[in-house]
Amino acid sequence: MLYEINEKALKLESEGKKIIRLNLGDPDMATPPEIVEASYASMKAGKTKYASSYGEMRLRQKIAEIHGVKAENIVITPGSKWGIFASMFLMLKNGGNVIIPTPYWTAYDLIAKTLGVKTKLLRTEMENDWKVDPNQLENLIDADTKMIILNNPNNPTSKAMDTKTLDGIVEVANKKGITVLSDEVYGAISFNPTKSILDYGTDSPHILSNGFSKTFTMTGWRIGYLIANKLFIDNITKLNQITINNVPVFIQDAALKGLELQAQIAGNIKAKYKQRADLASKKLSAAGFKFTQPDAPFYVFPKRDGLDGEKFTLNLLDRGVAVAPGTSFGDYREHFRISLTAPDDQIETALDKICEVTN
Ligand code: PMP
Repeated sequence: MLYEINEKALKLESEGKKIIRLNLGDPDMATPPEIVEASYASMKAGKTKYASSYGEMRLRQKIAEIHGVKAENIVITPGSKWGIFASMFLMLKNGGNVIIPTPYWTAYDLIAKTLGVKTKLLRTEMENDWKVDPNQLENLIDADTKMIILNNPNNPTSKAMDTKTLDGIVEVANKKGITVLSDEVYGAISFNPTKSILDYGTDSPHILSNGFSKTFTMTGWRIGYLIANKLFIDNITKLNQITINNVPVFIQDAALKGLELQAQIAGNIKAKYKQRADLASKKLSAAGFKFTQPDAPFYVFPKRDGLDGEKFTLNLLDRGVAVAPGTSFGDYREHFRISLTAPDDQIETALDKICEVTN
């Protein structure tokens, strides 16, 4: 229903209705000008040719320095979504199943379905702080299980995993010989620090997926990266060679500029979203919604007992606010997801309307 809501919002807008769009995770801010300038400069310098399918060495080296790994463990991808697709394709093309904790980012499930791969959903609950239970995980693993996908911090809950839970998951994965694909696209702008899958080493079978969309407001540029053992990186690079070849070098140069200014840019983004998360928490709590406090941008995933999230979402859209129903992220009918990615005044108006709608 996520995409249906978006289409309906666009249709209402085309009919002249004003819709505040809090249904997608696309930040309202512009890409920082230093990043745009770096891209121009690169284009003007003629960086417009085919290039390495691993990605530019200077960018890989910078990423390696930030994460404390080697450049040979890194490949640049056209957005982290493609990196996730490519990883799932390589790991699962010869069969097997994948475990996905819920609530999940919709694409994991859709990618698995596209690849004809069986998914096993591992339910987590708000009442238990959205914690994955390692024992439950272990019970779900069978002889065909190849991978578990973690999203830390999580979309839609904005929950960052605690160390004990992550340690428990990795221990089970190591014992059973399955790969953890850890999507940490919100990691660098998390309000509360969380352990990374890289803290368990790069000679492991585990994979980190990351990107520039959220940290640097670069959603439309399409650049991300994977960090994993060298053999896996070489295999993703071969996939790059027969598909996209390379992310344009002028986009890689723009991303490199972002990383050089990371402390400042990510710091500003974090501060802005923390302010919005605090405002949302205050208003939603006062209206009686239940939710866990966001540990990271951009989302809140509130619940009201007995709520039909789909009906609620459609009613709200009629009142000029688009959010996403909880059913878009698994079996969470009583929830809905608010994406705090609109200008502050619009967010405030939208939150007031959300708190007024009763069903
Ligand atoms: N992972 C998660 C959890 C996301 O929410 C998103 C974007 N909504 C992505 C990956 C995709 O990001 P990218 O633009 O790097 O493909």
